Amino acid sequence: MPLRLFYSDLYTIPLPPGHKFPMPKYRALREALSGDPRFEFQPSPLASADEIELAHDPSYVRRFLEGQLTVAEIRRIGFPWSEALVQRTLASAGGTLAATRRAWEFGCSGALAGGTHHAFYAEGSGFCVFNDIAIGILALREAGKIQRAAVVDLDVHQGDGTAAIFNDDPDVFTFSMHGERNFPLRKQRSRRDVPLADGVGDDEYLRILERELPAVFAFEPEAIFYQAGVDVLRTDRLGRLALTHAGVRARDAMVLQACFDRRIPVVITIGGGYSDPIEPTVEGHASTFRTAAAILSNHP
Ligand SMILES: [Zn+2]
Repeated sequence: MPLRLFYSDLYTIPLPPGHKFPMPKYRALREALSGDPRFEFQPSPLASADEIELAHDPSYVRRFLEGQLTVAEIRRIGFPWSEALVQRTLASAGGTLAATRRAWEFGCSGALAGGTHHAFYAEGSGFCVFNDIAIGILALREAGKIQRAAVVDLDVHQGDGTAAIFNDDPDVFTFSMHGERNFPLRKQRSRRDVPLADGVGDDEYLRILERELPAVFAFEPEAIFYQAGVDVLRTDRLGRLALTHAGVRARDAMVLQACFDRRIPVVITIGGGYSDPIEPTVEGHASTFRTAAAILSNHP
């Protein structure tokens, strides 16, 4: 069965000249994967306000949707507010939510966006408006499908919003392995944080991940949300680490194989990637899904 991935043309929005966010990566990722029979693509539905409010302050949700955020709130998010940003944000959360429901039924699914882990309960930050992973976890729980979930966040930036949202929740294991000196400067406390020094490369990274991952599975999560950011690549403008594409493939394989071996449903979101030019980032995101498809094909 092909691996179902959720995508939307709404992910790409116009930004002011000189804006640093690599908006073209979404379409390029979709194009990189299209034509591969191991994948099937479905349009991301738009998340509803009710779904988003599973993880967020209703006032914050409403003010964002209506364009009523303060200048400071908008600045912290890092995108100018627009109706297109609203649509992009709803499609992004909706894609992860659809992938969550699909993964619950069929073991694995992914969104060609998402992993917006800097979004807190009542505010956005770092290009993240709503926390799609938190919404996905709480939707599964609300539907009575799971009690315990884990987040494996391997983006180079700490999953600070996710950590804060689940700070007091004993049933969600937040795992974040990230650059110690990278954004956000003020870290939150995940259930397990693994800070990395600048310049860490493949061998050291994989050794540390192999040592740390068992704690995630010892928690016995009933669903896993994988934030597979590729800003760990050495080509990344923001990353400060030094992974190669082979290193990212080995990383993804380690996480996904462990999920599949234990038959734990896994939802894949892309997270960050800021190589300039953007090609290595797109290749990194694409390889995450190819790795998932390759392992799945050995798991009937
Ligand atoms: Zn990142």
